[in-house]
Amino acid sequence: MAKAGLLTPDLPSLRAGGQLLVETLEHLVEAASPGVTTLELDRLAEGHIRSHGGVPAFLGHRGFPATICASVGEQVVHGLPSDYRLVEGDALSIDLGVKMNGWYTDSAVTVGIGKLEPELARLLTATQGALTVALGEATAGRRTGDLGAAVQRFVESAGFGVIRDCVGHGIGQQLHLEPSVPNFGKAGTGTSFKAGMVIAIEPMVTLGSPEITVADDKWTVLTRDRSAAAHFEETVLITDGEPERLTPLDTVLAKVAGTLSGRLPGVNSGARLGRVA
Ligand code: MG
Ligand code: MG
Repeated sequence: MAKAGLLTPDLPSLRAGGQLLVETLEHLVEAASPGVTTLELDRLAEGHIRSHGGVPAFLGHRGFPATICASVGEQVVHGLPSDYRLVEGDALSIDLGVKMNGWYTDSAVTVGIGKLEPELARLLTATQGALTVALGEATAGRRTGDLGAAVQRFVESAGFGVIRDCVGHGIGQQLHLEPSVPNFGKAGTGTSFKAGMVIAIEPMVTLGSPEITVADDKWTVLTRDRSAAAHFEETVLITDGEPERLTPLDTVLAKVAGTLSGRLPGVNSGARLGRVA
């Protein structure tokens, strides 16, 4: 991974890119319904980004062939948009990156297509909750291990698995920068967050084992046991207080209100996005 992000990010560009990214996700989750293909969603995303002054950040990145990653069911991340038609009950993860004036933002959301099985709804709720927990740790002076430990505790106490082999990251004038931001770990260890750092926080959570494998297409990351997975991601600016959420998912999630009704018995999911501990 490249060197750590500058501590003097171009905030107007990051904010504008983040806003465009969120607007694009809003359109995508509204369009994602039974019968729609993930390639149609990809075209929609690319058109919206380009017509608003942004550049699709994933397209061509290390050879990735699309604007969005569309990962369904047991696919965790890096799913390739295709002629697959979404069906009722699918959990669709959309991961999207936008480059604006040379500055990158990166965000992801998992939504239900129609009504989800209760277990799957709980998985989505827990992963969203994990992101909220992580946001509460993303402040100057806390460490990557504090964030990882808090996410891991939250996810595992809900009975789900935390993926180890894919992690969050610094972001700025490149898509992936130091530090790595794992969703597991030991409190008190790792890189200290500093005001001015920009990071992408992205818990990836599974219904079953957290072991992953890569599909024959060389891109799609799958759970090894083929259990379902969910992924929520936001790009944030570290400050001395609450992080500035550059790609806040609240308005995206408002478009799909009702699919995230999974209850988490025994977990204080208090865990509404937007609340930062
Ligand atoms: Mg992403
Ligand atoms: Mg990312």
